[in-house]
Amino acid sequence: MSLNLAQQATLKSTLDTLEQKIQAELRQHNPQQLDHQSGEGDGVITDVLNHDAMSQFLHEHAEWQSLQRAQARLSENIADVCCECGGPIPFNRLEVEPTAERCIQCQAALEANDQRLHLNPHASL
Ligand SMILES: [Zn+2]
Repeated sequence: MSLNLAQQATLKSTLDTLEQKIQAELRQHNPQQLDHQSGEGDGVITDVLNHDAMSQFLHEHAEWQSLQRAQARLSENIADVCCECGGPIPFNRLEVEPTAERCIQCQAALEANDQRLHLNPHASL
């Protein structure tokens, strides 16, 4: 990897900050804690609450997993190596998005694919 020591340290502290933030949020939205609060009472409202808490939890869990991958990639010295094409990920991209695993080109290609699938399911080429 081509990051210098200062860049690696910056990336590591960014990831550490993100880790603490996600950990705090995961604790706050722990669906199991909500389960304990829901007694027999108003089932509908409880279901909605649990559903929201669960999607929030899953969202943060996905963030958590990409954070774990980013930290592993940093410790293996491949934090700035694109997982698709093996090309370099510019440091200014990692500064903005420390859990990025793809270079700008591969990320753009991926998102273009996603948009075709999600926004335009009937498009034919
Ligand atoms: Zn790439």
